[in-house]
Amino acid sequence: MRGFDVVIVGGGIIGGSIAFELAQEKLRVLVLDRQAPGQEASWAAAGMLSPSPENPDSIPLVPLARASLELYPEFVATVEEASGRAVGYRSKGALEVLLAGEAGRELSTLIALHHGLGLPTEALRLEEALEMEPALSRQALAVALLPYEASVDNRALTEAVLAAAARQGVEIRAATPVTSLLRQGGRCSGVVAGGDQVSAEHVVLAAGCFSSEIEGVSRYAPTRPVRGQMVALRSSRVHLTRVLRSARGYIVPRDDARPQKLVAGSTLENAGFEKRVTPGGLAQILSAILELAPGLAGTEIVETWSGLRPDTPDHLPVLGPTDVEGLVMATGHYRNGILLAPVTARLVREWLTGGSTSLPWENFSPLRFLEARRHTAS
Ligand SMILES: Cc1cc2nc3c(=O)[nH]c(=O)nc-3n(C[C@H](O)[C@H](O)[C@H](O)COP(=O)(O)OP(=O)(O)OC[C@H]3O[C@@H](n4cnc5c(N)ncnc54)[C@H](O)[C@@H]3O)c2cc1C
Repeated sequence: MRGFDVVIVGGGIIGGSIAFELAQEKLRVLVLDRQAPGQEASWAAAGMLSPSPENPDSIPLVPLARASLELYPEFVATVEEASGRAVGYRSKGALEVLLAGEAGRELSTLIALHHGLGLPTEALRLEEALEMEPALSRQALAVALLPYEASVDNRALTEAVLAAAARQGVEIRAATPVTSLLRQGGRCSGVVAGGDQVSAEHVVLAAGCFSSEIEGVSRYAPTRPVRGQMVALRSSRVHLTRVLRSARGYIVPRDDARPQKLVAGSTLENAGFEKRVTPGGLAQILSAILELAPGLAGTEIVETWSGLRPDTPDHLPVLGPTDVEGLVMATGHYRNGILLAPVTARLVREWLTGGSTSLPWENFSPLRFLEARRHTAS
C-alpha cells in the first residue's frame, strides 16, 4: 500500500484544521491521535478570538493573530458547510475593563499600543459601557471596547473541523500514540505509531503540549504544559453580549439564550501534566468574574474543568519546516491556538503544496531553539 502524502500527529484544533485544509487540495492525509481526538487543550479553551497582546511577550504574534482573525468568517463558513454543524461563532467584540490602579493612564497606554499594532480599540465612557453591558460592575474605573474581537464554541468547532476533514477523506486514527519519527536518507519518512511504521511524504507535528515528549521533537518544539482552570455558568438574570475581560479573568458568552451559558477563566499554573480543578483555582476565577459582573453571584455553576496550554520558552508558537526534510512543526500555540488555527492551516498548506508562504513565519521557526542552544554553548 502506498504511504500517505501527509501524516499529522495530533488531532486537536491545529492538527484537525491542517488536515481539513490539506484534504481540500486532494492530498492523502492521516491524523494520528493517542486518544480520542479533540479532547485536550482545544476542548478546554474559552474560545476567545483576541489578537490583542496580553503582555509584551505576545506583541510579535499580533500580525499573525490579526491575519487569522480575518480568515475566521470564511473558515467558519467552510467548516460549517462541510461538516453540517454550527460552531457558535460570535463577532460581537469585547470590553477590556480596568478595575484598579491608575486606570485612566493605563487605558491611554493600552489604546496607544493597540493603535500602533493596527487594532482599532476605543475608549468608552463608563455610561456607554454600562449601556452596552448592563451587568458590568459600577466599580469599573475605565473601559476599552475591542469591537473587532470575536469568540467561538471551541468544542463545537474542533468536532466540526474533525468531522469536515473526515468527510473530505482524511483518515483519523484514535488511540494510536506516535512515539518517534522515521528517518530515511536524511529525511523524515514517517512515524512510529502504536508500534507500527507509517510512511508519508511529510510529517506535521501538532501534538500540543505533548509534542516535546515524542522522540526527536524537543529540539524543535520544547513545549511544556501550562494548566488553566475554567468554570461554566448558567445565568438567568445576567445577560452578556460581549466578552468581559480584566487583568484577573474573563467571561465569555456562549449564546444569546435565556438562561445564558457563560464560560469563565482562567488560571496560569505550572503543574506538569496534571489536569485538576482546585479550590484555589476556582476561588481566583470566581473572585475575578464577580469583580467584573457582581450580578453573577447567584448564578448556577454547571461545569468546571482544566486543560493544558502548549507553552514554549518564548511563549510563541513553533511553525514551519525543520532542518530535516519532510518534517514540519505546528505546535506551541500557548494561549491562542483556537484563534491561530485558520492561519496555521493555511501557512502549512501553502508550504507543503508550494514551498512558500503568503505571510512571513520565520519568527516562529522551529530552528530558533537550536540556534539559541548553539549561542549558549559557544
Ligand atoms: C483553559 C484554557 C483556555 C484557553 N483559552 C483560549 C482562548 O480563549 N482562545 C484561544 O485562541 N486559545 C485558548 N487556549 C489555547 C488553545 O486551547 C490551544 O492553544 C490549542 O487548543 C492548541 O491546539 P492543539 O491542537 O495544538 O493542541 P491540543 O488540543 O492539546 O491537541 C493535541 C492533540 O495531540 C494528541 N497527542 C499528544 N501526544 C500525541 C502522540 N504522541 N501521538 C499522537 N497524538 C498525540 C493529543 O491527544 C491531542 O488530541 C486556551 C487553553 C486553555 C487550556
